[in-house]
Amino acid sequence: MASTLQLNLDGFEYDDLYRASQLPLLDARFDAWLAGRDGALRARYRDYRNGGESVGPDESSLLIAVAYELEDFLVGAFGVGESRDGLRAAQERDAVVHAFKREFVKRRIRKQRKQPARDFAELDPLIPSRPNADHEWSVARFWVDASEAGNAAQLALLEEWLHAACHSDAGRAATSGWVSLALPQATNYFKLVPIVAVPGEDAGRVEGAAAPRRRDGFDLTDGRPGLRETMNQVHYCVYCHDHSGDVCSHGFPAKEGEGFRANPLDVSLSGCPLEERISEAHTLKRDGYTLGALAMIMLDNPLLPATGHRICNDCMKSCIYQKQDPVNIPEIETRILTDVLEWRWGFELYFTLTQWNPLNRARPYRLPYNGRNTLCVGAGPAGFNLAHHLLQEGFGVVIVDGLKIEPLPSELFDASGRPTQPVEDVTDLYQPLDARTNSGFGGVAEYGITVRWDKNF
Ligand code: SF4
Repeated sequence: MASTLQLNLDGFEYDDLYRASQLPLLDARFDAWLAGRDGALRARYRDYRNGGESVGPDESSLLIAVAYELEDFLVGAFGVGESRDGLRAAQERDAVVHAFKREFVKRRIRKQRKQPARDFAELDPLIPSRPNADHEWSVARFWVDASEAGNAAQLALLEEWLHAACHSDAGRAATSGWVSLALPQATNYFKLVPIVAVPGEDAGRVEGAAAPRRRDGFDLTDGRPGLRETMNQVHYCVYCHDHSGDVCSHGFPAKEGEGFRANPLDVSLSGCPLEERISEAHTLKRDGYTLGALAMIMLDNPLLPATGHRICNDCMKSCIYQKQDPVNIPEIETRILTDVLEWRWGFELYFTLTQWNPLNRARPYRLPYNGRNTLCVGAGPAGFNLAHHLLQEGFGVVIVDGLKIEPLPSELFDASGRPTQPVEDVTDLYQPLDARTNSGFGGVAEYGITVRWDKNF
């Protein structure tokens, strides 16, 4: 049965998203909605949109405040409250794990020195597992309950358990992969890849310490991090935008003179090439505003499906944490994207933000065709990004590539590249990467091996 998407917007229909001439109407609907929600914020925002000066932390706080509202507006327009609330509830439920790490593990793990009297096998059963919960969550909940009850005996038991979990083979094995017990490690720039001597070699040859991952076919070889792992990274971030210290976005300034600092490997710490508002996006994700976070990222990086996890990590290299593990920013970015894509109408929400993003005052919506055509040679990441920005400015674009590119499947997209019907479930577009033929893009976006990029994007 064909999907229909009825937008809850007065006078603006789904088809209008594809009509540049109609996009100002969507912008006006948001403006009116914002005025009804918060007149003072709307006044600040109008001034900003009209070119009012706003930089650094002031601009960040305004954009974050508007992004909260934008998420609520879009959730209402697309009727996706259930999807949003489901994700938010999962995030909130897991908050105990991150609080346990922050308030208990980090403080107690360094404090306790003496060996626990009991071993892990004896201690672990004393912390009961909860129904419908993994043991990490159960332990965190045990801490919440003991703290709230002021139960010193239970907190002492938990401290003993913590020591046994972190300092015994049995404890480490049982808690392997727990984010609450994983603390940042010091960075050794000259041993970034762990290596070991090849056994029986006199010549001093070395090899990677980890077992090699064998590539068999073209499927993704690294799993996506889960919500808990991603939120662990979000909570590790210290949200540096509030004092213009977000060097992941803008680069690490040199101590003297102009330019950027270099790390011990002489890599220039220039930050994100797009100056993506990373800290602001992390703040929104922390607060449960995942769609707002996506809009914040798309302000500077509208084609983020082509970046993110394992594509580029210039931001990570420039993170404020230079002596220990940096925040895994690309991992967070990809999770924000996939979280929204997995919502009902998630693809359409993403598409909408490519056409209209009120956080972007320089180009809030796509302009109508301006009568001038351009030829873009190369349809890899640089080419299709350029094509996108030319289209936003109203140019006609023809794009060519040396690779033979098949048209997108006709049952899903018509000759203009427009979906034949709204996409309710993005997984309807997904294909096994092993079986997929080249379609839609060129360059490294197609011939690059899939460990680096999920071509279903
Ligand atoms: S990612 Fe690093 S540099 Fe960027 S805001 Fe977070 S802690 Fe600061």
